[in-house]
Amino acid sequence: MITVDDAKLIIDNYTHTKSVEKVDLGNAENRVLSMDITAKISSPLFDNSAMDGFAIKSSDLKGASKVNPAKLNLVSISSAGAPTKTILKSGECIQCMTGAQIPDGADSIVMVEQTSGFNNEKIIYFFSETVEGDHIRRKGEETKKGEHLISKGTKITPSEIGILATSGYGSVWVYKRPKIAIFGTGDELVEPGNKLKPGQIYNSNLYVMADLVKKTGSKLIIKEVIKDDKNALKLFLKEAIDQCDIIISSGGVSMGKYDYVRDVFIELGVKERFWKVAQKPGKPLFFGNKSSTLIFGLPGNPVSSYIGFMIWIWPVLEKMMGLIDESFVSATLKVDFPTEKQKHRFLFGQAWLEGGILVCKPSLKLGSHMLSSSKNANCIIGTEKSDNYLKSGSLVRIKLLPWKNIK
Ligand code: AMP
Ligand code: MG
Repeated sequence: MITVDDAKLIIDNYTHTKSVEKVDLGNAENRVLSMDITAKISSPLFDNSAMDGFAIKSSDLKGASKVNPAKLNLVSISSAGAPTKTILKSGECIQCMTGAQIPDGADSIVMVEQTSGFNNEKIIYFFSETVEGDHIRRKGEETKKGEHLISKGTKITPSEIGILATSGYGSVWVYKRPKIAIFGTGDELVEPGNKLKPGQIYNSNLYVMADLVKKTGSKLIIKEVIKDDKNALKLFLKEAIDQCDIIISSGGVSMGKYDYVRDVFIELGVKERFWKVAQKPGKPLFFGNKSSTLIFGLPGNPVSSYIGFMIWIWPVLEKMMGLIDESFVSATLKVDFPTEKQKHRFLFGQAWLEGGILVCKPSLKLGSHMLSSSKNANCIIGTEKSDNYLKSGSLVRIKLLPWKNIK
């Protein structure tokens, strides 16, 4: 049995970032950039109006007031996408919509609300003075052409998509998505929605894992329940190993008479890198590889399977897709924590802010078959082996579940 830290090092050694591919911007969400992004154009690309109003020369409004408005001839219109060619002269104004290019000769925009401009007249009244540059968005005030916008290794979220589109990127280079097979083993497993016979239970693990795989942005290509039958398992795994970057099993790696998964992996030429880690839950964790395909065997208990995925597989998927997993942070325990003498202990828990400090407590139901402990959890609390309870007030490491909020 090896320690959690040693197991992490071994896995990290076999985990390689995927090669890259070009994707259309419309399909780039949740992918990770494999290129630095620089601005192809300045933003804004040209001086333009921040308001619907009139482009004027500010010197023409000197002394303008409610009782003594300045009167300017309306000579043209500049709208977004259709700039005017007219050059503004003194005594004139040009109607200018939001986003429209500022006409040559103009030095500021007056909002239509501060003029008589709603009346469709050819002479517009201006009721106050203005300062040069008012309501003009200047070329390059946000970013200049060639400026660094987004770093390689950034996950593409709505913000990145918007920035890429603004700069004219129709496609980008990203890391390829790892191809994943997940499978469950057990004669007792029945798909939800069907009737249970005596001794049967519903397969929940593959649904949890499928959702987790999707959340990382990886490509789930196989999801299957296999009977506790060596030949069926062998047939299935042979194909899966050829097709996938990562194979994840749930169940069948413990000491039971029908726990064939590990044997079959080895018979198929998978090199075992470790089996059994000093952790609770999930001690009989298997890790191996067959050339570049990584193979994880998670124990079948629902909590072991879920926590095992988050602790062991989530960071691997992130790394393969070019990300650094940064979801472990320090937090202060609000209650005593039941550590294990010989093992690293992981428990679902809640983390929240108290006076600006991150604090946490484990969920109540601790059994590794009790998936409800994950329901109100927003983190997994991990503690080193220890003879005693970790006292309330101790600092622990927690892995935040990225899809949950801290309240
Ligand atoms: P195993 O690791 O195969 O010994 O399974 C340990 C426990 O997890 C047993 O109670 C199994 O019935 C249960 N289990 C195994 N696979 C699943 C699954 N896909 N969904 C829910 N429970 C499972
Ligand atoms: Mg089983």
